Amino acid sequence: MANEDCLFCRIAALEVPADIVFEDDLIVAFRDISPKAPVHILLISREHITSAASLTDANGPMLGRLFAVAAQLARDENIARSGFRLTTNSGAGAGQSVNHLHFHLMGGRQMGWPPG
Ligand code: AMP
Repeated sequence: MANEDCLFCRIAALEVPADIVFEDDLIVAFRDISPKAPVHILLISREHITSAASLTDANGPMLGRLFAVAAQLARDENIARSGFRLTTNSGAGAGQSVNHLHFHLMGGRQMGWPPG
């Protein structure tokens, strides 16, 4: 169910412009507006899910698709061999700023660990 107050639901509905690189019935992927790495793509569930804290077994097919799409995008963007990070921030304490489930696909530079 889409949430009309949610920025990422509005991007998925093409109501807010974004540089969309992939979409299907379960997933939308678009370039982050403020990239923190040479490749920085956000993968979101088309369904409005607030964060990873709300996931259940019922979300398994969507998550399986999301990880497969992330791997394909990593290959397409030439970061699969050099290395990439696939991260989700859940809750304000982890730095989540948009309350719609999303994974950051980042690569193209050396990553530090642990993240801040
Ligand atoms: P997070 O802080 O983990 O919730 O990640 C939210 C991400 O959304 C940030 O990296 C933002 O730069 C990105 N973002 C916010 N608004 C937009 C937008 N309109 N289009 C693309 N990315 C966005």
